[in-house]
Amino acid sequence: MLENIRNIGISAHIDAGKTTLSERILFYTKRIHTIHEVKGKDGVGAKMDSMELEKERGITISSAATHCEWKGYTINLIDTPGHVDFTIEVERALRVLDGIVLVLCAVGGVQSQTITIDRQMRRYEVPCIAFINKCDRVGADYLRVLAELRTRLGRNPILMQIPIGIGPELTGVVDLVTMKANYFKGKAGETVEEGPIPEEMLEVAHKKREELLDQASMFSDELMEAIFEDKVEPELIYQALRMGTIRREALPTFIGSAYKNVGVQPLLDGITRLLPSPSDVLNTANDLVTGTEVELRPDPSLPFVGYAFKLQITPYGQLTYLRTYQGSLKKGDELLIQRSKKEIRVGRIVKLHADEMEDVECCGPGDIVALFGVDCYSGDTLTHPHLSLQLGSIHVPEPVVSLSIQAKDQKAQIALSKALNRFAKEDPTFRSYVDQETRETIISGMGELHLEIYIERIKREYSVEVTTGYPQVAYREAISRGAPFDYTHKKQTGGAGQYGRVIGVIEPSERGEFEFENQVKGGNIPSEFIPAVEKGFRHCLEKGPLLGFPVMGVKVILQDGQAHSVDSSELAFVQAAQGAFRQAYPKAGPVILEPIMKVTVESPSEFQGLVMGSLSQRRGIILSSMESGTHTVIEAEVPLSEMFGYANVLRSLTQGKAQFQMIFQRYALLPEGLMAKLVAERQKEKAKKG
Ligand code: GDP
Repeated sequence: MLENIRNIGISAHIDAGKTTLSERILFYTKRIHTIHEVKGKDGVGAKMDSMELEKERGITISSAATHCEWKGYTINLIDTPGHVDFTIEVERALRVLDGIVLVLCAVGGVQSQTITIDRQMRRYEVPCIAFINKCDRVGADYLRVLAELRTRLGRNPILMQIPIGIGPELTGVVDLVTMKANYFKGKAGETVEEGPIPEEMLEVAHKKREELLDQASMFSDELMEAIFEDKVEPELIYQALRMGTIRREALPTFIGSAYKNVGVQPLLDGITRLLPSPSDVLNTANDLVTGTEVELRPDPSLPFVGYAFKLQITPYGQLTYLRTYQGSLKKGDELLIQRSKKEIRVGRIVKLHADEMEDVECCGPGDIVALFGVDCYSGDTLTHPHLSLQLGSIHVPEPVVSLSIQAKDQKAQIALSKALNRFAKEDPTFRSYVDQETRETIISGMGELHLEIYIERIKREYSVEVTTGYPQVAYREAISRGAPFDYTHKKQTGGAGQYGRVIGVIEPSERGEFEFENQVKGGNIPSEFIPAVEKGFRHCLEKGPLLGFPVMGVKVILQDGQAHSVDSSELAFVQAAQGAFRQAYPKAGPVILEPIMKVTVESPSEFQGLVMGSLSQRRGIILSSMESGTHTVIEAEVPLSEMFGYANVLRSLTQGKAQFQMIFQRYALLPEGLMAKLVAERQKEKAKKG
């Protein structure tokens, strides 16, 4: 039954306890039979971190999908990564989820990554409930976290429980809907015991319940009436809160401690009661024929529409994670990959549980399954062969860091190419290519750590020894003013000659992208050669003359030209355009742009001065500095070129107590002195190579 499916993700700032919570959920739903703590202390590692590397580093890199049953509901759980370098995975997961559990640390509160996740949830309009974890820690302050959800995220948190004892004294929670105390007994908290609210907590509990009712009644007239008539039933409260959650106007907030086994089962109840089922969410797709948006209906009898949100290469072949939006699918069915218009036949369909799988015969709307042997990309829409529908694609940021990578011999080189192809297919923010000039293999991605992880995976999973160069910044080139061109390409060698003349200007584009305007009149350049001129310019922009980086935001206005009835050809005009570009570019005030990152550092307040100093030293501009509890969050804009190795610097400045993350913000002009230095270095390099 569709109403009994919940496709949810768990998102959190790193270390807030997402993995520990997922592990407890799998345990209480009897998906696993023992609990393994994260960080591999017991040599096993948590179930959800399936890759060796993740177990060692204790971070979750790829979203593992799993499913479990809770009181008659099927919960499909997508474990999303916490580090910002891997946000593409978070975004992919969000695209296919109907709801999120946002985990916060009761001491750390709203942290930098929480803010990023919040922004992404808004972009994909995903409903959400919150879990304030680690209430067993010294210094836990759930009310402060609640206030931060309001002030820093602008959410409307609704407190569902209050803790019985806080910090190390935490023993249970008071449920403000049922007005009962919940304790978690047994070896691992598996038995929930209900009891009366402790005497000394009654007053607070009643006050907090009033607040809950006040907030919930905003979403239901029925509840409002029931409150007046003093006939409030739990079911009415849940209905109202569910409405508020689905409309994304309320954030029901649960509390507990995953590690100490407190409050996980009530959170599971919250997931099934408050988060939407696939039928509560409106999903649409673009009709590629009519260009209109059509509504997808979670009806198993309609033609199939699904979305491939993740790929994994396994020893058994490519595994494609698929979310079904409409219709159903069974073994042997035909599917059309909309991007490539290739038809495929469905072989094995499996349900996943971290790295184990279970074969199923078919799947229906709302299901998350995986297919074997389907050759598609992540982000592909797969449909019934008669349909021509595409689901909106995912926001893919441009890679900003690159480095060269080299295998030690021919055999290793082949394995390396294989690995790189696979990673690029799985992760659109990771790219690799061979530099035509230097013949070096270059990989690029979202940050130093992002690339480091892949380099380690190459070593481990493919047993390839590689050497790597220093990380390089992906600069851009641009022009700062307009410049005219008038260039004739003429060649007379033996047979047919080549002739083409182009006249016009290049100037900075207001839109910041390549533009080409054709103003040629009277057929001075025959219209069949115009695309060749455009092609010639485009080609030049791929590799700028200064440093060899792409040239951004050039507008070409082609005003006039000349052709020859015999000697003009497409090739002649491509070359004329290239000559024109070389002629005009030096006069157009060429500049270099560098990527500017938004850097967020979170550090104990005592190190605030040191951290700010370290950022200013790196040409950083401090945007804000905000104290929250014992910690300070500093936001700054810093050029990427200054950020290499910053993780180590920060570690030694703060005794390893600070964390930072960065995201690409924009391109900005590189200061003149630095530009001159870079250009000189480049020329030296070129001269060396002869
Ligand atoms: P993730 O990075 O969000 O997946 O966080 P983990 O689940 O890996 O947890 C990070 C650390 O916090 C681990 O050492 C956990 O044992 C610990 N931890 C998780 N939940 C709790 C909790 O409720 N209380 C306390 N005291 N520690 C916790």
